[in-house]
Amino acid sequence: MRVRFAPSPTGHLHVGNARTALFNWLLARGQGGTFILRIEDTDVERSTKASEQAILDDLRWMGLHWDEGVEARGDRGPYRQAERLLLYAEYTTRLLQEGKGYYCFCSAETLDAQRKAQLAASLPPKYAGTCRDIPLEEAMRRRSGGASAVVRLRVPEDREVTFHDVVRGPVTFHTGVIGDPVLVRSDGIPAYNFAVVIDDALMAITHVIRGEDHISNTPRQILLYEAFGWTPPAFAHLSLVMGPDHAPLSKRHGATSVREFREKGYLPEALVNYLALIGWSPGQNEELLPADELARRFKLENVAHSAGVFDEDKLAWANRHYLKLTPADRLAVLAEPFLRQRAQIAGDLTPAARGWLEAVLPGMATSVDRLPQLADRLDTVFAFDAAATLAQGALAAELREPNATAVARALADDLQQAPRLTGKDAFRSAANRVKERTGQKGKALFHPIRLVLTGAGEGPELDRLVPAIDSAAELPQPSGLAPVLGCRERAAQIAALL
Ligand code: GLU
Repeated sequence: MRVRFAPSPTGHLHVGNARTALFNWLLARGQGGTFILRIEDTDVERSTKASEQAILDDLRWMGLHWDEGVEARGDRGPYRQAERLLLYAEYTTRLLQEGKGYYCFCSAETLDAQRKAQLAASLPPKYAGTCRDIPLEEAMRRRSGGASAVVRLRVPEDREVTFHDVVRGPVTFHTGVIGDPVLVRSDGIPAYNFAVVIDDALMAITHVIRGEDHISNTPRQILLYEAFGWTPPAFAHLSLVMGPDHAPLSKRHGATSVREFREKGYLPEALVNYLALIGWSPGQNEELLPADELARRFKLENVAHSAGVFDEDKLAWANRHYLKLTPADRLAVLAEPFLRQRAQIAGDLTPAARGWLEAVLPGMATSVDRLPQLADRLDTVFAFDAAATLAQGALAAELREPNATAVARALADDLQQAPRLTGKDAFRSAANRVKERTGQKGKALFHPIRLVLTGAGEGPELDRLVPAIDSAAELPQPSGLAPVLGCRERAAQIAALL
């Protein structure tokens, strides 16, 4: 089995295309097949190297590594269409000589006028066949005289083209609705339908799995396989990925590209797992499974042909699952760019600072949907401003309540002598001493302590947060982390303002 993903490098990788890549990859990995990456860059105006690199990078980020193709091994290359032009020219000559293709000299204006006339007569627009019968020698003479021409496929008249789509079942088109397609443009660049057939055939692709937007191209491609005397591969057309309103997922729905979801802080394994669930199910009510297990269970025959809706809430649900499974060292690596955006990380992390992050992040990762929210959680550690806390009317009122003020002062006083609260036990002992001095307990004790130390009425558990604050305050600076004010200093500043 040989499958391929064949993106056009004209923009970022859309999640719908990423899902096409994934289904190809799952099939290849599950069946011991070969997954090939080919770049379809014959649209010279719109293709860019930067897009190609971004697509390759996103595929690698998702873990969809290819066995053969661009930037990989393979003896059926080159794997960029722009590097295969001589090959296409050979096959063009063959079709022309066998009379299966012909030169067409119709100008854009002529074709446009024909189209308009057909539409006006309520006919489906298709090429009228004007140049079908120009003998090859005459066409070649006109070409050498400088006339510009495209090459078209001679579509057999009055026939049916049927193929069995692995996802959708039998599909039939009548050749009456297929105008002779352009195979090679007047500038010598092959059209998609032509290049794709030659490439899929020469690269010995056994299964073409792609979006259903290509289904009407398939009969044209099958006619080309016939013209060359080649056996077509199996075809499977995947339904498009829709937005919640059942229109194809597009910009107006929000994020659409792998890059955007990556930047929003979703993990690759969550995106991969979630995309696999759009239109397919691994069965037995199990949805959250690692990619190799998805591959083991994947069957093209079980892919639904109804449209799949992209549901970001469900992606977030998968992300929460994978965030909880992520080991501390990887979590720190994944979170780092987001913490840098917020200047919580501002330089190269020392080993001690990295150790601190690895100790703190897992506790926070159990209650967030996406990586940037870790930076929100860390704000309680990094951002402390006593004056701002007391400028908030409600918080100030709570703290100025006599029992709360007593707790705040006792805490400030106690921490002057106490070592830093770098562990839960140290914090508990300090809280107990404040309890003894003030007679406050439970909420009346811990709520003011929280207000004093974090400047907020709620947040992560104090048992975890206080040691995080004080161990960050102890890191020798510069540590790569933004400096953190310790609990002692926080309490002193608040007490001085009360
Ligand atoms: N370059 C085409 C696309 O991106 C590939 C279609 C195909 O897989 O045949 O839509």
